[in-house]
Amino acid sequence: MSRRVTAPCAVFSLIVALTGCSGHVSIPGDDEGLRALGPEEAAEAARARAAAPIDADSVRARIAALPPDRDLLAPGHGEARLYLLDSLAALGLRPELVPFTWPGAPTADLANIVLRWRGRAEDSPILIVSAHYDSVPLTPGADDNGSGCAVLLELARRFSQRRFGLELRLVWFDAEEDGLIGSGTWVRALPEAERRRILGVINLETLGYTDRRPGSQRMPEGTRALFDPGDRGDFLLVLGNLDSRELAGAVQKAMEPEQGEAFRSLMYSLIPGAGWLLPDSRRSDHAVFWDQGVHAVMLTDTANLRSRHYHAPTDTLETLDLPFLAAGARGVERAVLSLAEPLDG
Ligand SMILES: [Zn+2]
Repeated sequence: MSRRVTAPCAVFSLIVALTGCSGHVSIPGDDEGLRALGPEEAAEAARARAAAPIDADSVRARIAALPPDRDLLAPGHGEARLYLLDSLAALGLRPELVPFTWPGAPTADLANIVLRWRGRAEDSPILIVSAHYDSVPLTPGADDNGSGCAVLLELARRFSQRRFGLELRLVWFDAEEDGLIGSGTWVRALPEAERRRILGVINLETLGYTDRRPGSQRMPEGTRALFDPGDRGDFLLVLGNLDSRELAGAVQKAMEPEQGEAFRSLMYSLIPGAGWLLPDSRRSDHAVFWDQGVHAVMLTDTANLRSRHYHAPTDTLETLDLPFLAAGARGVERAVLSLAEPLDG
């Protein structure tokens, strides 16, 4: 979650794959391990790995393994990228690294990571699920945005053996905290025809913190008259603009089976245009898609409106509500399955 709200073109401005993951199965988690098996055993092991449901242990393992302090010039930034690439390779997946430069940090090594499932046709609609992997300096960034990165990795694992009618892309964006730089660069570089194929974007931003005490949830000045989620910080917000209302509704509906004591989600999707009347609504990568007229929603625990650990050295794994995060992750999985036309299973 970015502190700053930036103008649309403000260019200046596990090999833990399954170790510790649920404990449901015990299989080699890396390519080398799979290579040691015969082809049939390897295929069976890959199926078993994908079959294990997302739970609190599996998301914990992902966040625990993600290097901390992922500021653009910190060692953790490059280490986190390697961790993501290694984790995907261990799942037998082949992501594309999309490097870019930014004059605001000319010496930084910047790149988005794009993992793609081709649809049934070359011009199939595209569904994107995204999360940023950078952080502000000197924070573990467990919630912001280790939580989103972990959920995206878990989706990659769950979908590693599937095919879809739509084209599915999981994207780990870089340089979000500096003003949505990675996502903005990426979306503006897309050919117009490809951009028009985007059915929707589900942006995962800071998903794992709750505070269930009365009075724990704050709201941006003057917004409770429009949307009052109550005063407890115990929900995941599905936030969309007016144009994205149908997408937000579909995501919210798909999450319904996960609603319960540990988890609830609320939807607010009445923001006009690209969100300039409510600048807090633009503080993550979905906003650059709104700028292009693309339907996009942000899923978030509302960050600093609830958590005192926002952008602080105390944004640690230990502060997160892992059953809540896991339920949200399964909810996103359900949303993708409801939207992307799975072809098998
Ligand atoms: Zn942030």
